[in-house]
Amino acid sequence: MVDRPVSAVRTTRARVTIGLAALGVVGAFAWWRLGPSRDAVEAGQVRWLKGQTHAHSNRSGDSDTPPEDVARWYAAHGFDFLIFTDHDTVTSLGRVGPLLTIAGAELTQNLERCRPAEPAAPHCPLHVNALFVDRPASASVPQDGNLERLDRYTAALQKTAALGGLAQINHPNFHYGAANATLLAELSRRGARFVELANEAWDSNNQGDATHPSTEQLWDDALGLGARLFAIASDDAHHYDDAERVRSRGEDVFPGDLGFIVVRARNDPASIRASMEHGDFYASTGVWLETLDRAASTLTLEVRGEARFELIGRGGKVLEQQHGQRAVFALGTIDGYVRVRVTDANGRRAWTQPIWPS
Ligand SMILES: [Zn+2]
Ligand SMILES: [Zn+2]
Repeated sequence: MVDRPVSAVRTTRARVTIGLAALGVVGAFAWWRLGPSRDAVEAGQVRWLKGQTHAHSNRSGDSDTPPEDVARWYAAHGFDFLIFTDHDTVTSLGRVGPLLTIAGAELTQNLERCRPAEPAAPHCPLHVNALFVDRPASASVPQDGNLERLDRYTAALQKTAALGGLAQINHPNFHYGAANATLLAELSRRGARFVELANEAWDSNNQGDATHPSTEQLWDDALGLGARLFAIASDDAHHYDDAERVRSRGEDVFPGDLGFIVVRARNDPASIRASMEHGDFYASTGVWLETLDRAASTLTLEVRGEARFELIGRGGKVLEQQHGQRAVFALGTIDGYVRVRVTDANGRRAWTQPIWPS
């Protein structure tokens, strides 16, 4: 998120780091052509990878932690990959120890106002993550005085495409920037791929309020309108080893390892990107799925302990519930889409991506 006034419209940040991930992709392909080393064989195995698509370093201006230390922190917390998303700045380091870092940026439009206005939140922080950036370029969205919310988001989608990236609509309920299913469905048609269902920053308002639906209901409503958006859980972290120090000063803390995704892929940027594009991943706030298998007419899930498994359909309606370590859902005839939400005894969750009729 941001820890500065949202009125600070950021249009001048121009520092750009060339995305080393692109070089990493080229290197990985070269390995294969030359004959795989042991590392390459391990990198070539498809497995479930724990990843983060929203994290800030001191290149954002609102975090004190250098990117190298952010990468080390995520490696120490069991992550396989990290996509840096500094405000309007492309950051990537390639591999840092066991961790793969991937280039990205948070395209950060902090507008004083926009249209239509949101009565509950006069300012308009409209943030979009460009993930898998593969070329050096400015990562700020050009401003032209047009304050239409849809147009501003569309400009961010166009910038994401210009960076070679995939667009993630961030924290839709933060100042209710994208808390509108019709808007989300239109952004999906215009190229957005992902929406943050669970941005775990404390001020994301994921649960909504009396006049705004939760981000999960918003996602269902957008899916009902034809959106093809996959759900993301993320940290939006700004504090790492300094989190407790910042907390002890009585300041707001944005810590990490609270929300993440788990992607079925080889441990290289191209494979992770392709799997995310196809929805071959799930979002999690702490639930790890031991099994997630889709057969022609069934979906099988398994956790290590016990959980509640809910098959969810159009409108967010719970179609079926199962409890225990393992659940097998017969998919039958799918009306619109179905998806599964898994909740453990501690309230932590995993969300699988929608399955549409084939
Ligand atoms: Zn952020
Ligand atoms: Zn943000």
